[in-house]
Amino acid sequence: MIQVDANKCLGCFACSNICPNQFITREEEEGKRRTIRWSKCKEECDICVEFCPAKALTLIPYSDSTPEVIEVSFDLVPCEVCKKGFATEPLLKRIRETVPSNLQTDSTGRSWVEICPFCRRELEAEMASKQVVQSRRK
Ligand code: SF4
Ligand code: SF4
Repeated sequence: MIQVDANKCLGCFACSNICPNQFITREEEEGKRRTIRWSKCKEECDICVEFCPAKALTLIPYSDSTPEVIEVSFDLVPCEVCKKGFATEPLLKRIRETVPSNLQTDSTGRSWVEICPFCRRELEAEMASKQVVQSRRK
Protein backbone atom coordinates (compact mmCIF):
# COMPACT_ATOMS: atom_id res chain seq x y z
CA MET A 1 0.00 0.00 0.00
CA ILE A 2 1.07 3.59 -0.36
CA GLN A 3 1.90 6.12 2.31
CA VAL A 4 1.20 9.77 1.60
CA ASP A 5 3.28 12.66 2.84
CA ALA A 6 0.65 15.39 2.57
CA ASN A 7 3.24 18.08 3.30
CA LYS A 8 5.10 17.22 0.11
CA CYS A 9 2.04 16.91 -2.15
CA LEU A 10 1.74 19.55 -4.88
CA GLY A 11 -1.88 18.80 -5.72
CA CYS A 12 -0.92 18.06 -9.30
CA PHE A 13 -3.32 15.10 -9.86
CA ALA A 14 -0.63 12.99 -11.58
CA CYS A 15 -1.22 10.06 -9.18
CA SER A 16 -4.99 10.10 -9.68
CA ASN A 17 -4.52 10.20 -13.45
CA ILE A 18 -2.20 7.21 -13.43
CA CYS A 19 -3.76 4.85 -10.83
CA PRO A 20 -5.29 1.97 -12.82
CA ASN A 21 -7.60 0.94 -9.96
CA GLN A 22 -9.19 4.24 -9.00
CA PHE A 23 -7.79 4.19 -5.49
CA ILE A 24 -6.86 7.84 -5.91
CA THR A 25 -9.74 10.17 -6.65
CA ARG A 26 -10.00 13.92 -6.96
CA GLU A 27 -12.57 16.63 -6.92
CA GLU A 28 -12.39 20.23 -7.98
CA GLU A 29 -14.69 23.07 -7.10
CA GLU A 30 -13.99 24.98 -10.27
CA GLY A 31 -11.74 27.95 -9.74
CA LYS A 32 -11.74 27.54 -5.96
CA ARG A 33 -10.58 24.34 -4.41
CA ARG A 34 -9.04 21.01 -5.30
CA THR A 35 -9.17 17.81 -3.20
CA ILE A 36 -7.31 14.52 -3.55
CA ARG A 37 -8.26 11.31 -1.73
CA TRP A 38 -5.97 8.33 -1.44
CA SER A 39 -7.86 5.16 -0.46
CA LYS A 40 -6.01 2.34 1.20
CA CYS A 41 -4.91 0.02 -1.57
CA LYS A 42 -3.63 -3.53 -1.32
CA GLU A 43 -1.91 -3.35 -4.68
CA GLU A 44 1.81 -2.98 -5.03
CA CYS A 45 1.94 -1.75 -8.57
CA ASP A 46 4.06 1.25 -7.63
CA ILE A 47 2.97 3.40 -10.60
CA CYS A 48 1.70 6.33 -8.53
CA VAL A 49 4.93 6.32 -6.49
CA GLU A 50 6.99 6.43 -9.65
CA PHE A 51 4.99 9.23 -11.27
CA CYS A 52 4.67 11.56 -8.28
CA PRO A 53 6.91 14.54 -9.12
CA ALA A 54 7.20 15.52 -5.45
CA LYS A 55 8.14 12.08 -4.08
CA ALA A 56 5.17 12.40 -1.74
CA LEU A 57 4.21 8.71 -2.07
CA THR A 58 6.00 5.65 -0.69
CA LEU A 59 5.21 1.98 -0.98
CA ILE A 60 4.91 0.37 2.47
CA PRO A 61 3.67 -3.02 3.76
CA TYR A 62 -0.10 -3.29 4.19
CA SER A 63 -1.37 -2.44 7.65
CA ASP A 64 -4.87 -2.59 9.15
CA SER A 65 -4.13 0.28 11.50
CA THR A 66 -3.72 3.03 8.92
CA PRO A 67 -6.74 5.17 7.91
CA GLU A 68 -8.93 3.95 5.03
CA VAL A 69 -8.75 7.32 3.28
CA ILE A 70 -6.35 10.25 3.43
CA GLU A 71 -7.60 13.54 2.05
CA VAL A 72 -5.79 16.77 1.21
CA SER A 73 -7.36 19.98 -0.07
CA PHE A 74 -5.78 23.03 -1.65
CA ASP A 75 -7.21 26.47 -2.31
CA LEU A 76 -6.54 27.46 -5.91
CA VAL A 77 -4.43 30.52 -6.68
CA PRO A 78 -6.26 33.03 -8.90
CA CYS A 79 -4.96 33.83 -12.38
CA GLU A 80 -3.57 37.37 -12.55
CA VAL A 81 -5.67 38.06 -15.63
CA CYS A 82 -9.09 36.41 -15.26
CA LYS A 83 -8.92 36.02 -11.46
CA LYS A 84 -10.19 32.42 -11.56
CA GLY A 85 -8.30 29.90 -9.43
CA PHE A 86 -6.25 27.57 -11.59
CA ALA A 87 -3.30 26.01 -9.71
CA THR A 88 -2.21 25.13 -6.21
CA GLU A 89 0.38 27.29 -4.46
CA PRO A 90 2.81 24.34 -3.93
CA LEU A 91 2.67 23.62 -7.66
CA LEU A 92 3.38 27.25 -8.60
CA LYS A 93 6.17 27.39 -6.02
CA ARG A 94 7.70 24.29 -7.56
CA ILE A 95 7.58 25.87 -11.05
CA ARG A 96 9.14 29.12 -9.77
CA GLU A 97 11.93 27.12 -8.12
CA THR A 98 12.68 24.67 -10.94
CA VAL A 99 12.06 26.47 -14.25
CA PRO A 100 14.97 28.77 -15.19
CA SER A 101 13.90 32.37 -14.52
CA ASN A 102 14.48 33.43 -18.15
CA LEU A 103 11.86 30.86 -19.19
CA GLN A 104 9.25 32.12 -16.73
CA THR A 105 8.48 35.25 -18.72
CA ASP A 106 7.05 35.88 -22.18
CA SER A 107 8.59 38.16 -24.82
CA THR A 108 7.11 41.25 -23.09
CA GLY A 109 8.72 40.30 -19.76
CA ARG A 110 5.41 39.30 -18.17
CA SER A 111 5.59 36.29 -15.83
CA TRP A 112 3.46 33.47 -17.23
CA VAL A 113 3.60 31.39 -14.05
CA GLU A 114 0.77 33.36 -12.42
CA ILE A 115 -1.42 33.30 -15.55
CA CYS A 116 -3.80 30.40 -16.26
CA PRO A 117 -3.31 28.36 -19.46
CA PHE A 118 -6.49 29.78 -21.01
CA CYS A 119 -5.45 33.42 -20.53
CA ARG A 120 -1.90 32.59 -21.62
CA ARG A 121 -3.21 31.22 -24.91
CA GLU A 122 -5.39 34.31 -25.39
CA LEU A 123 -2.48 36.67 -24.70
CA GLU A 124 -0.14 34.75 -27.00
CA ALA A 125 -2.74 34.75 -29.80
CA GLU A 126 -3.28 38.50 -29.31
CA MET A 127 0.47 39.13 -29.41
CA ALA A 128 0.91 36.97 -32.51
CA SER A 129 -1.86 38.78 -34.41
CA LYS A 130 -0.35 42.18 -33.46
CA GLN A 131 3.00 41.03 -34.83
CA VAL A 132 1.37 39.95 -38.10
CA VAL A 133 -0.39 43.33 -38.45
CA GLN A 134 2.84 45.22 -37.67
CA SER A 135 4.86 43.17 -40.15
CA ARG A 136 2.32 43.92 -42.91
CA ARG A 137 2.52 47.65 -42.22
CA LYS A 138 6.29 47.66 -42.84
S1 SF4 B 1 -0.07 1.54 -5.82
FE1 SF4 B 1 -1.07 1.32 -7.85
S2 SF4 B 1 -3.18 0.69 -7.38
FE2 SF4 B 1 -2.29 1.49 -5.49
S3 SF4 B 1 -2.89 3.64 -5.44
FE3 SF4 B 1 -0.87 3.55 -6.43
S4 SF4 B 1 -1.27 3.39 -8.63
FE4 SF4 B 1 -3.16 2.92 -7.53
S1 SF4 C 1 1.32 12.93 -7.85
FE1 SF4 C 1 2.28 13.41 -5.91
S2 SF4 C 1 2.29 15.64 -5.84
FE2 SF4 C 1 0.83 15.06 -7.40
S3 SF4 C 1 -1.16 14.96 -6.34
FE3 SF4 C 1 -0.28 12.90 -6.29
S4 SF4 C 1 0.83 12.79 -4.35
FE4 SF4 C 1 0.43 14.93 -4.78
